[in-house]
Amino acid sequence: MKIQELPAHQIHKLLVKKEISCQEVIREIFKTIGEKEGEIHAYLSFRDREKVLREAKKVDEKLKNGEKLFPLEGIPIAIKDNMCISGEKTTCASKILENFISPYDATVIKRLKEKGLIFIGKTNMDEFAFGSSTENSYFGPTHNPYDLERVPGGSSGGSAAAVASGEATVALGSDTGGSIRQPAAFCGVVGLKPTYGRVSRFGLVAFASSLDQIGPITKDVTDSALLLNVISGYDLMDSTSVNITLPDFTKSLIPQVKGFKIGVPQEYFVSGIDREVEASIKKSIKLLEAIGAKIEEITLPHTDYGIATYYIIATAEASANLARFDGIRYGYRSKNNKTLSELYEHSRAEGFGKEAKRRIILGTYVLSAGYYNAYYLKGLKVRTLIKEDFNQAFRKVDAILTPTSPTTAFKIGEKTDDPLKMYLADVFTISANLAGIPGISIPCGFSKEKLPIGLQILAPAFGEEKIFQIAFTLEQSLKK
Ligand code: GLN
Repeated sequence: MKIQELPAHQIHKLLVKKEISCQEVIREIFKTIGEKEGEIHAYLSFRDREKVLREAKKVDEKLKNGEKLFPLEGIPIAIKDNMCISGEKTTCASKILENFISPYDATVIKRLKEKGLIFIGKTNMDEFAFGSSTENSYFGPTHNPYDLERVPGGSSGGSAAAVASGEATVALGSDTGGSIRQPAAFCGVVGLKPTYGRVSRFGLVAFASSLDQIGPITKDVTDSALLLNVISGYDLMDSTSVNITLPDFTKSLIPQVKGFKIGVPQEYFVSGIDREVEASIKKSIKLLEAIGAKIEEITLPHTDYGIATYYIIATAEASANLARFDGIRYGYRSKNNKTLSELYEHSRAEGFGKEAKRRIILGTYVLSAGYYNAYYLKGLKVRTLIKEDFNQAFRKVDAILTPTSPTTAFKIGEKTDDPLKMYLADVFTISANLAGIPGISIPCGFSKEKLPIGLQILAPAFGEEKIFQIAFTLEQSLKK
């Protein structure tokens, strides 16, 4: 297998055995970028190549001196362009931040640096993570490596496409309503949204602060556990980060599901779901049952209200978070202003894209004095009901299994005229964010058109270990 196709844990073994050097790994990634980036457009910016190679050389010197490497040391990683790396651009794929250079490192970046990962560049996304296809980027869409006419999913589409195409070995994405899991499903890679509070959000440009989480996008479940080990943990800089003891997630990579009770929610297999997706998920359910898991039908009765609730809460929070982009403190400033209000108005009107404006308008509306009770407060109440659905379910089962998305990757342009249709792409992923629980998407098959299909596993808050064990077992069984 080629280096760019290998997961990080296998590259690590080759490095330690001195069968390849870190500089060779990086050069292979650069070569793949040279060959594929023109048609995929996974990245928005690259780090200086000399700098990157110097870092690789340091790893090689460490190896030469017989020093031990961290498990992901020297591994090339791509970062979604809404996380701050000191001295690098952080654009959020928006004109308003087109020339913004981060003055500091996000906590996840600091942790990755401490463990020796090597940053390749920043990846494309929907502007401010608003979207499900990466088409809302000011810098143009990313193309799905499996079919260049299709979207990679979104909003972390650049990160998913980079890992799928071998333009990076691992990546980070952010997930507010599905933006790690859905692109992972569309690109045939593994995407994990951790429990809310598991990973620090410090240095992640906020979309909806009560829903956002950073998580790994990787080629397999083992890499996902390794990367979560590096990025998770309490952080004083994020008041919502939770201070609990950190497990070693790789200890959960046990190929065994005997004794696990896995729930399958009836509400997730309704009309609108693609037949091939449904068939592929059902095959995996049968497989899990055959190797010892107990499958139970469950109900999550408020599933239908997920999308509406999410688009009230997420837009409300987004409208507040985007207020800071005013042409004074950050980013783009319009030039033709006679008054201070004009400066605000023009900078925002010219700097934000269409979807960002739509969300600001929606969010401001649901928070306005006259409608706060009718929409925002009601939304919060329904959010509690959705959370309670999961609490009830997890009294009976250890984990829940669903499709990640109702369809495989759709065509570029297919849903851009109809925001409601686009919003429905996240119908199976959104509830996990509302409930704050962790979820993973792993590849479970292909459609006739050779497009990847993703399967989602959800667990109770801080139940990532269960997720890893089930996902790892299923991954191994699907290979046989
Ligand atoms: N597609 C959803 C939205 O547009 C989720 C985005 C995300 O998870 N960042 O809001």
